[in-house]
Amino acid sequence: MNLREELIKALIAARVSSPRLEADIILKHAAPDYPQISLEETEQARNMLARRLQNEPLDKIIGQREFYKSIFKVNENVLTPRPDTEILVESALSYIPAAAQWQILDLGTGSGCILLSLLAERPHCCGTGVDLSAKALDIAAENARNLKLDSRTQFINKSWTEQNFIKGQYEIIVSNPPYIPSEEIGTLEPEVKNYDPLTALDGGTDGLNCYREIAAFAPLILKEGGYILLEVGYNQAEDVMQIFANSGLKPQKIVPDLAGINRCVILKK
Ligand code: GLN
Repeated sequence: MNLREELIKALIAARVSSPRLEADIILKHAAPDYPQISLEETEQARNMLARRLQNEPLDKIIGQREFYKSIFKVNENVLTPRPDTEILVESALSYIPAAAQWQILDLGTGSGCILLSLLAERPHCCGTGVDLSAKALDIAAENARNLKLDSRTQFINKSWTEQNFIKGQYEIIVSNPPYIPSEEIGTLEPEVKNYDPLTALDGGTDGLNCYREIAAFAPLILKEGGYILLEVGYNQAEDVMQIFANSGLKPQKIVPDLAGINRCVILKK
């Protein structure tokens, strides 16, 4: 049995949903010239397989993930970018004219995937990404450099509640904050609960803590006519819309994700 067959057999036995695809991705990263392969490369591929068999997601093993139109570096310190979040990127782009010179703020930027995807599409905009985790921001900064967006991006390592934002500074605020209710964390798939950072998942008792925090200051720092777009959990859209409407913003719309789940809540100042 060759190494490829060995990987596929092990992945099938572990009930991984796309065993051939994952075997080929492991081989591509461990042994780029496969079937020509050295002893070290064979060991590297087997190590990657062993991690996958512990439910570690493949993107964290190979250290990268595609999101929207770019490839992002990821590791254990950032939430893996999800396809559902591309809805937020597309929705935000629908409000930002091609020549806009807007200031974009991303709260809880993590890998930077949302902010950097927006900046890549809008060459005259500048962006600020805020995150509590310095280790996440190391990855975000690396992604900004890789995508040649670092000259238009700044990252701030602070709690968004402690940052003294300038009033009326931003045309657009985006955020995919932690929104899983604390007691549901245990029910998540092992790929998520064991390998995404807990601080990027846990949204408190009802999952809505971050939205309440953000709603307390977002209306002040948005420009008149500016937009806020928030990713929400599967049953949170109405509640989140209400939280931000109560703080004085005008509801625009709720956009479903590809599975038909209400995923992105949009309001305007
Ligand atoms: N969408 C993530 C999940 O499915 C949660 C991300 C978040 O809390 N913002 O687990």
